Amino acid sequence: MSKRDKADRRPETIAAAHGVATDPAFAAVAPPLYLSSTYAFADYDAPGRYDYSRSGNPTRDLLAEALAKLEGGAGAIITASGMAALDLLVGRLGPADSVLAPHDCYGGTMRLLKARAGRGQFALRFVDQGDPAALAAALGERPSLVFVESPSNPLMRVVDITAISAQAKAAGARIAVDNTFLSPALQCPLALGADYVIHSTTKYLNGHSDVVGGAVIAADPAEVEALRYWATVVGCVGAPFDAWLTLRGLRTLFARLDGQQRNAMAIARYLEAQPAVSRVHYPGLEGHSGHAVAARQQRGFGAMLSFELSGGAEAVRRFVAALGVFTLAESLGGVESLVAHPVTMTHADMGDEARAVAGITDGLLRLSVGLEAEADLIADLDRALLAVGTA
Ligand code: PLP
Repeated sequence: MSKRDKADRRPETIAAAHGVATDPAFAAVAPPLYLSSTYAFADYDAPGRYDYSRSGNPTRDLLAEALAKLEGGAGAIITASGMAALDLLVGRLGPADSVLAPHDCYGGTMRLLKARAGRGQFALRFVDQGDPAALAAALGERPSLVFVESPSNPLMRVVDITAISAQAKAAGARIAVDNTFLSPALQCPLALGADYVIHSTTKYLNGHSDVVGGAVIAADPAEVEALRYWATVVGCVGAPFDAWLTLRGLRTLFARLDGQQRNAMAIARYLEAQPAVSRVHYPGLEGHSGHAVAARQQRGFGAMLSFELSGGAEAVRRFVAALGVFTLAESLGGVESLVAHPVTMTHADMGDEARAVAGITDGLLRLSVGLEAEADLIADLDRALLAVGTA
């Protein structure tokens, strides 16, 4: 083992420096970008470590190593998007399998699961995982995979990953957690008992809103191999340049989240005190239903929050039109602050009925809080709330 491969490096060090100064050709400090799709064989039966970039690429593998270490997994597969990561996981299921997913998950997750289940590829059931009786009943049907999103998108519901993992295992299921909203800087689901973590690396891991990517991390080395094989079969792997950019973004993960979650807490407290705001969903607030669990299983409350304007859709229209620092856009996790209206944007495809069951209302807005000055962000929200009240 080289002095740079020490297994006991802390997560901040892994994020900032995994792979630094390991370039075998020129000792480049920043890991090089290998764009080559193919690699020369030494002889007709003597491939090198890499032969073709669908099955393996040095830049992508470096990012995979860093993410696997940060999540405490046996390995990671880097995919072309977060949805490709989920699809890699569920694509191996068959008609005898069944998936149990939360009723209030990200709209794209629900769409993908329904699309696959609709083609008879596995059975699917959605449940309120915060309702112990409903969860126990659903686990009684012995699903093969339990999918968890905590905190959930967009309502920031928190579930006890340790408890659900234990229950799922007792029911014979594997458990996968979407850790996109927190990243391994703030939550490590494998240490809480999960079998897989999935990420949209598009969000906090890259952190600069200039890459779409994903990752699956597995606890079991045999599962890593099986997933790697399946990724090569279906070809859902991420591009090397995207991996290189994501590794560059990862360097500042801890510092970014530190500042972003400080801003988020200040904004949550500010919004809580506003008469035009009927509810604030942020696990860092003592009154949030998942506060105690979040304080136990997370290392911070993150930089995502949502809130409800009591004036509904019309208030939303006036509010977003008045914003100048927050940008109205899909996605999250970048250094710039974004606002999204889940009903018409991220969760539009979910349909009215599923949204009503999940509790996603017309007046709900989701904030991805960035690294701008706290005072500028709050002044922007203040201006927008004034517009809601006075128009
Ligand atoms: N998981 C969560 C929680 C998300 O918010 C998203 C996208 O918004 C995804 C997965 C999908 O990721 P991608 O857009 O990279 O496919």
